[in-house]
Amino acid sequence: DVSAYAGARAQRLAAVAAQAGARLRLHPASTVVEPDRLRTSSDGPYLVFSPYWRRWSQVERREVLDAPARIPAPDPLPASHLPALSELTTAPTSPDRPVGGEQVGRARLDAWLAEGIAEYEAGQGRLGGEGTSRLSAHLRFGCVSATEVVARLDRRRRGHEPFLRQLCWRDFNHQLLAAHPQLPRADLRPRRAGWHHDPDAAEAWRQGRTGYPVVDAGMRQLRREGWMHNRARMLVASFLTKHLLVDWRVGARHFSEWLVDGEPANNVAQWQWVAGTGTDTRPNRMLNPVLQGRRHDPHGDYVRRHVPELADVDDAYVHAPWTAPGGPPPGYPGPLVDHAEARARFLDAARG
Ligand code: FAD
Repeated sequence: DVSAYAGARAQRLAAVAAQAGARLRLHPASTVVEPDRLRTSSDGPYLVFSPYWRRWSQVERREVLDAPARIPAPDPLPASHLPALSELTTAPTSPDRPVGGEQVGRARLDAWLAEGIAEYEAGQGRLGGEGTSRLSAHLRFGCVSATEVVARLDRRRRGHEPFLRQLCWRDFNHQLLAAHPQLPRADLRPRRAGWHHDPDAAEAWRQGRTGYPVVDAGMRQLRREGWMHNRARMLVASFLTKHLLVDWRVGARHFSEWLVDGEPANNVAQWQWVAGTGTDTRPNRMLNPVLQGRRHDPHGDYVRRHVPELADVDDAYVHAPWTAPGGPPPGYPGPLVDHAEARARFLDAARG
């Protein structure tokens, strides 16, 4: 890992190893290209994705190694005990979270390369989530190696290049965090619009009760499954930071509590990107949750799956139920903010 925490952990480990007369050797592992390998002409990390992608695509990559036949362990191995989940946390967990582990991860990778990837470009736009690999948690925990995934891709085949590009985003975010260890706390770039302290609005967002179906579906899916489609993540993050003007750190903390693939590099870099404090070259863009819902979930299947209150709402109103004759269905709130007003408020503040 590349976070400041991971760096301190490695140092502690090295100190303990030294005391025991052993030497700690670290090997690059989690990213395809090592986080400090590509530097701009001014010897800094890349802050813009496209030039990074061009360089990243051309560099020579590490070879995929076979698993070692044996790993020598200290003899005798000190007796120890693996804690149960309940000893580690009493916090609620997502009922439909995916199963983990190397076998499951490798099977998913095989199936994805055999069948799913060819339709990736079309599937990337579907909020329902059947069109992407769902490998993120496996990559995050090393159940599947990013180096191996990339080695198995063939850029000439359908879907492979766009998929490779997403894996490059992962490396891009890691090199950013490696170079800016304060990224999880501090804005990479200042933002004019500032933040509102609004605990009630933040809680409505966390609970999936903003009145905007696509935002609420995403937030409820996060609790249920510990996962969300990238488009849904962008929509809910944009809504929190631009419609509600709530600090991205509030959202990033909630994501890292619930995401099964949650990890600091991708989470924080993407939150800052959406909030307009990170590497987005158009930091004031704002997503319209109604139009985005209609475009990426045209029949409302995704929102109905996660927001059962909308089960009987017509397709025509499912992304803006307050416009239906008689208003939103019983039990479902009206919109927390008006889109046009929120947009004007954000843009006025952002432009100063
Ligand atoms: P696929 O579309 O199949 O992509 C393949 C792999 O590429 C993913 O598994 C992931 O490792 C990588 N990837 C895809 N999109 C991105 C991206 N935009 N940035 C970086 N890597 C990407 N991803 C995480 O792994 N952990 C996080 O904590 C995380 N937090 C996010 C927070 C926000 C606000 C946003 C907008 C995005 C975040 N992402 C995060 C990135 C992305 O949403 C997920 O990686 C993706 O949705 C995982 O689903 P998948 O494996 O089916 O992706």
